[in-house]
Amino acid sequence: MNIDGILSASYIVATVLFILALGGLSNQETARRGNWYGITGMAIALIATVLGVVTSNYEILMAALVVGGSIGLIAARRVQMTQMPELVAILHSLVGIAAVAVGFANFMDPGKHLAGVELTIHDIETYIGILIGAVTFSGSVIAFGKLSGRMSGKPLTLPARHWFNLGLLLAAIWFGYQFVLQSAAGGGMQPLIIMTAIALVFGIHMVMAIGGADMPVVVSMLNSYSGWAAAATGFMLGNDLLIVTGALVGSSGAILSYIMCRAMNRKFLAVIAGGFGTGGGTAAAAGDQEGEIVAIDAEETAALLADAKEVMIIPGYGMAVAQAQHIVHEITQTLRAKKINVRFGIHPVAGRMPGHMNVLLAEAKVPYDIVFEMDEINADFPDIDVSIIIGANDIVNPSALDEPDGPIGGMPVLECWNGKISIVLKRSMATGYAGVQNPLFFKENTRMLFGDAKDTLDAVFKSL
Ligand code: NDP
Repeated sequence: MNIDGILSASYIVATVLFILALGGLSNQETARRGNWYGITGMAIALIATVLGVVTSNYEILMAALVVGGSIGLIAARRVQMTQMPELVAILHSLVGIAAVAVGFANFMDPGKHLAGVELTIHDIETYIGILIGAVTFSGSVIAFGKLSGRMSGKPLTLPARHWFNLGLLLAAIWFGYQFVLQSAAGGGMQPLIIMTAIALVFGIHMVMAIGGADMPVVVSMLNSYSGWAAAATGFMLGNDLLIVTGALVGSSGAILSYIMCRAMNRKFLAVIAGGFGTGGGTAAAAGDQEGEIVAIDAEETAALLADAKEVMIIPGYGMAVAQAQHIVHEITQTLRAKKINVRFGIHPVAGRMPGHMNVLLAEAKVPYDIVFEMDEINADFPDIDVSIIIGANDIVNPSALDEPDGPIGGMPVLECWNGKISIVLKRSMATGYAGVQNPLFFKENTRMLFGDAKDTLDAVFKSL
């Protein structure tokens, strides 16, 4: 078999492994195996490409691999679980910038001799690859800023912003036409650079306009874009594996965006249009809801739990911050040993990335069969004696239902207030990610247990 045959065979094996990886990752029991399929597939793809495609300058390639690999390794080892979403966002930006760099390098390649229709098709592939890559890059950098708190989560709602976006889109199409024309005559660099600048501005503006409550969809949308950028680069380079891998990432990201939109009761186009989760109308709403809050201490919490028959645990972003998942598991075991039925209710956008809570609970070895999605358990709250809300806020906010026109109006939430008593663990009266006051804290059957969730749960565990 010649080298091309070996290369194709390796690419097919890698493709199959990537598909198996996605299949594995769809279920918690098989996720670890899925990860290994993905790692093996990527290793095969890398080795096959280095040995089969690259023909010279091995030293430069190796140096780049060592530098890039080391940075990735150090970043992944250092990153805290709470910083994971930011890391994912910044990694998407690297896919975007890589697509832009490869696109320009390919366009400037003196060894490329195409003409007629072939050249036109190749130019369109290059143009689209750079366009999506640049949007992904700048959009992901802004998403990184918003997720890491370096930038405000408030949406930037410029007047006539839809017209601005439309103008950018039309300009990108016009410069694409110019690019194809000029490239046939040996030029084309100028429209390509102008389009890249337009795409960068579009990426920044698109993510800036998106409010706190829609960030989950944006994270998965950028994931999808990074896949399509890779797929377009695959077409440009004639690399089948890159096309397939890019399409897998692009379509799975798109499906995830759809699932997240449905979970948030949002329309995809409305998300892109931005503005949801505005800080605007919030101040007034917050004022209306102020009232009495009832604080509680760890011993009282332990007593309520020990007397309960049905307990629902609702984890949120604060559990990740406090790293309270292990103590949560210990409390769960203790309660279950007392024949108390303990379940977990997981909101689809709890935390800061899709599946955030499931990852933490799996890490703490909480059994999967007591972890339920929102839709599966939301109707059960009237039978719940005690709901423990651990560092969650937006996902248990009744104003999402009571104020349809409010900043998070229409988002489905875990309706814990329908249970007998809700105990909210948080450090202060601060708002959550969407910046919205939460009327749950002022309800008659709500108790507030203030403090870092890990410290308070440690105390609850001791009392139990
Ligand atoms: P929220 O951000 O609404 O609330 C988290 C709460 O945790 C805060 O009110 C905070 O209150 C509390 N908290 C923080 N640290 C601690 C600690 N150490 N101990 C105890 N409490 C703590 O989180 P939710 O999970 O309820 O909701 C997720 C939000 O994030 C939604 O708005 C969602 O749209 C958004 N989002 C989700 C993404 C996803 O993919 N899942 C991605 C991006 C955004 P205090 O400061 O008083 O302690």
